[in-house]
Amino acid sequence: MLRLLTERFLRLAAGAIVAVLCLSAVTPASAAPLLAFGARMAGDDARTRLIIDFDRRPEFSVHYVANPYRVLIDLPETDFGIKAEELEARGIFSDIRYGTMAAGRSRIVLTAPRPVGVVLAEVQEEQGGTSYRLVIDAAIVTDQVFQGQMEKQSWQEASLPAAAGETPIMLPGGRTDGTFVVAVDAGHGGIDNGARGAVTKTEEKHVTLAFARHLAETLNTLPGTRAFLTREKDEFLSLSQRVQLARSEGANLLISIHADTLKQKDIRGATVYTISDKASDSLAASLAERENLSDQIAGISFVDEPAEVADILLDLTRRETQAFSINLAQSVVNTFKNEVMLINNPHRHAGFRVLTAPDVPSILLELGFMSNKEDEQLLIDPAWQKKVAGLVAKAVDEYRTTVVANGG
Ligand code: ZN
Repeated sequence: MLRLLTERFLRLAAGAIVAVLCLSAVTPASAAPLLAFGARMAGDDARTRLIIDFDRRPEFSVHYVANPYRVLIDLPETDFGIKAEELEARGIFSDIRYGTMAAGRSRIVLTAPRPVGVVLAEVQEEQGGTSYRLVIDAAIVTDQVFQGQMEKQSWQEASLPAAAGETPIMLPGGRTDGTFVVAVDAGHGGIDNGARGAVTKTEEKHVTLAFARHLAETLNTLPGTRAFLTREKDEFLSLSQRVQLARSEGANLLISIHADTLKQKDIRGATVYTISDKASDSLAASLAERENLSDQIAGISFVDEPAEVADILLDLTRRETQAFSINLAQSVVNTFKNEVMLINNPHRHAGFRVLTAPDVPSILLELGFMSNKEDEQLLIDPAWQKKVAGLVAKAVDEYRTTVVANGG
């Protein structure tokens, strides 16, 4: 009897010790606040990385709030031993604040002028477990994706500890539900007017937006296809923002719409461009150079390209993407034949920045030249825009049903 009791007691005691050990693993015995002792940021106006160093593994949760667009990172009570300049707003963020929110809780508030989403959020252990870094990668998203993030989030999870090696938070993309997503990108906008019509002086940015609207509308009538506009009004977007919006939506294609100008006023017709390091010809090279000027017009400088550029896997993806882009370009050229005037050698290639998404097949469509009187007449004609948008949509559908179905 006594032996039985002793055994039971021992078992209970062992259980209690285990419980105490578990508790101490969750709540550090010291109960001292976390210490954030360093921070750094990198990125551009499309995607920004934030790294914060902690003395212990931080439990964290990510939430979104609108008006203005904000990302909240909730932490247990934290002492912020960070120099102000280390967390100065930059990249996609216009304001960053941090501090204690309530007893035992701290918060970092990242405010952005455009809708943003967290692409990756994880804790990395430094060698030897001497410190832990919280890595937050955030990128611009469309308003629709932002709303989706808001609806999906649960505020309950804020009280749960983040498990070690937790799956990164990924943005909702079009690829998951099988919908074929097309990013329709109206070239230029805002401060960047683009080319100007020879006769009517119409600005390219208005022509591209009108055409993009027709194209998105037509694409949205196709089964299993969803198109969205990178810009829906006369606003400036940098080239990397256009690329990022396509990636954030999990787009299967990006089509950038343009109607440029040339010194040779007699040249007319449509051209379809895909990306390459080396331009196919001097006309392609000078057009790419002109298009890439867009960012400089708005005074954007390039800093801290994401480190992923060197990734070998990404390089393979890039090559595969390139093959798909060429297929789409050929599909558009074939569909245009006998319907839309094409320049000679209508599929050309050059280093357009807007075509650099490594994982989204992309083409740039020069519909014609605003510098040519006949082209200009067509380009500003809504009936012509609608007809040509219908042909591009047809080419996209053909690409989706043949190329993607067989090889994608
Ligand atoms: Zn253009």
